[in-house]
Amino acid sequence: MAKIRLEHVYKKYGGKVTAVKDFNLETEDGEFVVFVGPSGCGKTTTLRMIAGLEDITEGKLFIGDRLVNDVPPKDRDIAMVFQNYALYPHMNVYENMAFGLRLRRVPKDEIDRRVKEAARIIKIDHLLQRKPRELSGGQRQRVAMGRAIVREPKVFLFDEPLSNLDAKLRVEMRAEISKLQRRLGVTTVYVTHDQVEAMTLGQRIVVMKDGEVLQVDSPLNLYDFPETKFVAGFIGSPSMNFIRSRVQTEGGSAYFVGEGFKVKANGTLGASLMPYNGKEVWMGIRPEHIGLKGWTSIPESDNVVKGRVEIVEPLGADTEVHVEVGGHMLTAKVDGHAMVLPSDTVELLVDTSKLHAFEVD
Ligand code: ADP
Ligand code: MG
Repeated sequence: MAKIRLEHVYKKYGGKVTAVKDFNLETEDGEFVVFVGPSGCGKTTTLRMIAGLEDITEGKLFIGDRLVNDVPPKDRDIAMVFQNYALYPHMNVYENMAFGLRLRRVPKDEIDRRVKEAARIIKIDHLLQRKPRELSGGQRQRVAMGRAIVREPKVFLFDEPLSNLDAKLRVEMRAEISKLQRRLGVTTVYVTHDQVEAMTLGQRIVVMKDGEVLQVDSPLNLYDFPETKFVAGFIGSPSMNFIRSRVQTEGGSAYFVGEGFKVKANGTLGASLMPYNGKEVWMGIRPEHIGLKGWTSIPESDNVVKGRVEIVEPLGADTEVHVEVGGHMLTAKVDGHAMVLPSDTVELLVDTSKLHAFEVD
């Protein structure tokens, strides 16, 4: 096991494109860290620098206590699983898993021990004699992981390993990867553009945008305390609503005010808004923190937003209601049994303890 540490790491391609800017991170030993962000934000580039497949333009990379900037990939004691896990088609599963160890001249009985143990851990013992074409997508993905496990590396790197699987399998494999990582306790960096995958897998999540790290935090802290509007909108599903509003202070309290609403900001949020009196800000509220009057346990007091229902999407337990409020669309996740129809005029109650505020750009 090993910690990974990146200090002020930059990647510039051809002296022009800055793919990664001032990346700083220190993992714990055995930690599961996820890099998440939209396509093109620099996740793969950062992972490839950790793997040694890409030079570091500037900054320092440590694996354990060793500075590895100039250490070739094969000497970094890492194993990587890609989205396109190319298995050798003419080799069976056993041979696919053993191949890397043979190249490293690991003794034959040691190879046999490691392959069989890995196969048992990832439950493919019964598939060892099959060729890749005789396997399902999920089984192939397991073999790709098996190849990484037999290496007994200090670090696992995953680059969107589940992207090619269908939705149901992806959820299953996600749980498998999580269990496996906890069992092996190997420091892991996992790249995905899917915030749900990030939230369910990561002990800590690094949110990236345009080559920069915006926030590094636990899943719940990202959800509860996003530091920027981007992180607030990226983490959580459906996305947080942002409603342009004006701050109005009255008798020691701050309110978000706009067409059809005047919502009181509680406690520390309220206090932080006092200097913004008269200024425009984004009021942020997640769909799950808005209820429909008459169908919610959120009490009514300085927290009503009035609007007109545009779309109603019943999902069973909840219903997603899209409401037009003063020219903006707002999504509310309300009780699945609430009686609500398109073109109804409704009163929504927001949970004022769950409000956020962001500066307008
Ligand atoms: P992600 O994995 O988050 O989708 P990447 O790390 O692949 O993003 O890419 C980050 C940025 O670097 C993108 O703008 C991409 O176009 C650019 N990039 C990636 N690889 C190269 C390369 N070999 N040469 C030039 N630019 C590259
Ligand atoms: Mg990528």
